[in-house]
Amino acid sequence: MNRYRMHINGESVEAQGGAWFPVYDPSTEEIIAEVPDADEHDVNRAVQAARAAFDSGPWPQTTAQERGRILLRLAERIRKELAALAELESRNSGKPIVEAEYDMADVATCFEYYGGLATKVMGHVNPVPDNALSLSLREPVGVAGQIIPWNYPLLMAAWKLAPAVAAGCTCVLKPAEQTPLTALEMARWLADMGLPPGVVNIITGFGETAGAPLVRHPEVNKIAFTGSAAVGKLILKSAAESIKRVTLELGGKSPNIFFADADFEAAIDGALFGVFINQGEVCSAGSRILVERSIYSHFVEAMTEKAKRIKLGTPLQRETKMGPLVSKEQYERVRSYQELGKQEARLVAGGGRPAGMDKGYYVEPTIFCDVDNSARIAQEEIFGPVAAVIPFQNEAEAIRIANDTPYGLAAAVWSRDIFKAFRVVKALRAGIVWVNHMQPTYVEAPWGGYKQSGFGRELGPWGIEEYLETKQVHINLNEQPIGWY
Ligand code: NDP
Repeated sequence: MNRYRMHINGESVEAQGGAWFPVYDPSTEEIIAEVPDADEHDVNRAVQAARAAFDSGPWPQTTAQERGRILLRLAERIRKELAALAELESRNSGKPIVEAEYDMADVATCFEYYGGLATKVMGHVNPVPDNALSLSLREPVGVAGQIIPWNYPLLMAAWKLAPAVAAGCTCVLKPAEQTPLTALEMARWLADMGLPPGVVNIITGFGETAGAPLVRHPEVNKIAFTGSAAVGKLILKSAAESIKRVTLELGGKSPNIFFADADFEAAIDGALFGVFINQGEVCSAGSRILVERSIYSHFVEAMTEKAKRIKLGTPLQRETKMGPLVSKEQYERVRSYQELGKQEARLVAGGGRPAGMDKGYYVEPTIFCDVDNSARIAQEEIFGPVAAVIPFQNEAEAIRIANDTPYGLAAAVWSRDIFKAFRVVKALRAGIVWVNHMQPTYVEAPWGGYKQSGFGRELGPWGIEEYLETKQVHINLNEQPIGWY
């Protein structure tokens, strides 16, 4: 059995209690590795290491240039190991290998971006009215606890680690229990990249036994969380005890809106890509497809026809466009929504397990049409390849339906009329809005949600801001006493 160890204080370690848990290949349902089952003792160990590295040792003296170079070296190493990393990610998460390769390239790009940004963090001179020099200094927030989900395992780790290291923080990262392998693989190279022990610690374990103690820990200054809204709420409550800084990247139920004047072929492709990429296990999935009435029937027909041809298969085959879901639990969850949808709307594609694929957590790309926006399949995040198609009459109705959800992560608008498209962009309550596309994500642009999709922004300069404090410094330039008393 392939055993991966955690990374604490620069060392490869087992859990103090000696327990391990299995990691699966979701396409075969077989165990491919074991990882340590960390508990509160291990969390304490990792936080102590991060705390010590932040407070003393070489890290606080490391220059921004040097932090940047570490990240650039890491990016280079990731590009060198891209094929092997992508294969490991694909086996562990079930995502098609071609998508995993894109993800690994994005991981490297993310480290490169923050490697460059490390030296661009600027302070400020404040124009105060007295004879004084008033400065705003930017300083690292301290020890960051980072908790991530399973849908883009190493990419989510990079989105958290890269800005934190660039800012000068130290980190304790907990990957999702289902997909810890690529982060642990990367941890093996950290010392070679020049990262001092304790700056990046990676612990493996379950949400309640490893994630929750990390959030509670009084020595952790900030929690960066990506995951479900339900867990996000728990984290916010727990972090309130010690007034931690918190950023939350939560779920969504994003509308993908198609007006009749959109390019029809591009629209059909965009609707499918928006909801079925990465098996629909995407926080910004365009899972509510809003279509103008005048093209509705034709649209549903064309979309259904194309969806039926999506190639399901084993993740490592290059022609595979959809792999298995990540776990048995997720498979059962998505299957239950497929059944619920049959009671709430009209099924036009998929709706079950693909015929002839008896092993692995596969589900068919599924489309329900004539969905009412109040239906559970239109309101609840399914996080699988299940689309709800909803007709609308006019622009005002499209906007009303699009915004009628507790979430506000992303949205897309398809139209050749730039004036109409931009009116809709402005009316949408979402943190990310695409026009005539859905899903492209760039490290240079901000990522995060409105409403119950969370708060705080990752990526771009916004991402590093979340790991910085602002210190006001006042330097008196009067040589005389104040003269008050
Ligand atoms: P979960 O919220 O269940 O888990 C996310 C992480 O939180 C996991 O590492 C999990 O641990 C951990 N966790 C669970 N319970 C606790 C707890 N009580 N305290 C601390 N940590 C805990 O989400 P999923 O992993 O199921 O991921 C899917 C969700 O993530 C979707 O809702 C999706 O929308 C959202 N997401 C949002 C993104 C965004 O950018 N906005 C991007 C990607 C996903 P473990 O799993 O190991 O038990």
